[in-house]
Amino acid sequence: MEVATAIILRVTPFKEKDAMITAITPEGYLSFLARGAFNLQGKNAPAMQKFMEVELELTEGKAHGLTLRRATIIYSSSSAMRSLLRMSALEIIGEVILKSLMDNRDVANIYPYLQSSIRLISQEAEPLSQVFILMAITLRLSGYGLDVDQCVRCGSKKAIVAVNFLDGGFVCQSCFDQEHDQSQTEMFLKMARFAFKCQPEDLSRANFPLMETLAFISEFQQLLFDNLGISLKSYRLLIEAVHQ
Ligand SMILES: [Zn+2]
Repeated sequence: MEVATAIILRVTPFKEKDAMITAITPEGYLSFLARGAFNLQGKNAPAMQKFMEVELELTEGKAHGLTLRRATIIYSSSSAMRSLLRMSALEIIGEVILKSLMDNRDVANIYPYLQSSIRLISQEAEPLSQVFILMAITLRLSGYGLDVDQCVRCGSKKAIVAVNFLDGGFVCQSCFDQEHDQSQTEMFLKMARFAFKCQPEDLSRANFPLMETLAFISEFQQLLFDNLGISLKSYRLLIEAVHQ
């Protein structure tokens, strides 16, 4: 028998009331069969929902790899499901992770961020700031993070005035090129630095202005598309939820 702490990210119907579950753990991805996941009276049904943090007892099955024996909810994200915006925020974070991170080491690295973020989004934290940070961390783990330590063109650490997403980071005053760069506010630069530097315990301090946050999320989904060919289904849903 195997015991694991995990966060459920994908629930795929299998046969009548069963599901194939994709979860992430502090060690990487975990897939298993959950019998009765769609059986409302079943003992495992409440825990086999997306974004639940659970403790799992698994056994090696005959045909389908690991099978769930028992699940205990450690943290329930169900309160987030009452808000379209919070739910959409969790959806896009889950989609970004599942589509971008293939390596178990990267998944292990994102685990503590996701764990914090789900808790914050389920409570009172501003959800778009969490989306922004989790997308930044995912980009960094995928090798497409922005350089927020220095100017990407000359290496200067002084007089940073812009972020160039195509070039991958900060641009200083003397390298600033009006044709290709757009100068940004102090807040925008501060947010970029925060997002690519923060630790899981810093997530509770993420509360950024709407316009800048949406601008980053839009640039990040473009970066994911350009670099990894990923198009995010839940991006439109998130934008609709913002404007509701
Ligand atoms: Zn420069």
